[in-house]
Amino acid sequence: MALAHAGPVGRVRDDPGEIVGSAPVVDAGDRAQETRRILDASRSIIEDDHFAYVSGDHGAGWIAKDLIFPATANGDALGRMLAAAVGEYDAEIVCGPSTGGLIVSQWVAHHLGIPSVFAEHDPAWIRPADAHAGHEMQGPFVLRRGYDEMVQGRRVLVVDDVVNTGHSVRQTAEAARAAGSDVVACAAFVDRGNVDAAGIGVPIYGFLLQERIPAWPAADCRLCRDGVPMSTRYAHGKEWVAAHGGPSHS
Ligand SMILES: [Zn+2]
Repeated sequence: MALAHAGPVGRVRDDPGEIVGSAPVVDAGDRAQETRRILDASRSIIEDDHFAYVSGDHGAGWIAKDLIFPATANGDALGRMLAAAVGEYDAEIVCGPSTGGLIVSQWVAHHLGIPSVFAEHDPAWIRPADAHAGHEMQGPFVLRRGYDEMVQGRRVLVVDDVVNTGHSVRQTAEAARAAGSDVVACAAFVDRGNVDAAGIGVPIYGFLLQERIPAWPAADCRLCRDGVPMSTRYAHGKEWVAAHGGPSHS
């Protein structure tokens, strides 16, 4: 196929306010409902398994966010909804922590008609020799590749796919501010209900869907007590099983 010599590919989009195959999304309730529908369709919300979280707690739920984006229509639809929700903040550039936030940033910026950049773990960071279990395994999010210059003096919207503790978006906002930008808001596709705008360190924090996932101390875990196999595919199940044993599944 000789794309360089081909004519226009595909149809021209003339319906930016509408998601193909569904009703127009007009308010926050509709956005939440549509987001839930997309996550369910991609099977990314798991509610009846056994997980060990980074925090050390256990629970039955997980958002397998890597299943959301292989179907690019999902990123397109979610990005369109989030762009519509944050339009009033007049962001001039979007920035997300890689890798999930990078994809979100691309789609949201595409629908806002503004540039997209991303933050990444500092490759120069060296893990402290005295780092203990639970210590961070990767360096803080930084702006490289000239993206620090691109955000300088601009109104930045920080985005991510799923916000849990807010750690990644907080570091991304800090990196953007350190580069001389004004972080006007943070926005996510899904909020886990564990952090607010103050906790992230931004003036405004919004999301399309809130999905709270109950967790409890491992010592009180009824799933452990009942011998329910631990998922080693997601979260910290692999590390948990290596350290504590017990039945597992991948
Ligand atoms: Zn457990």
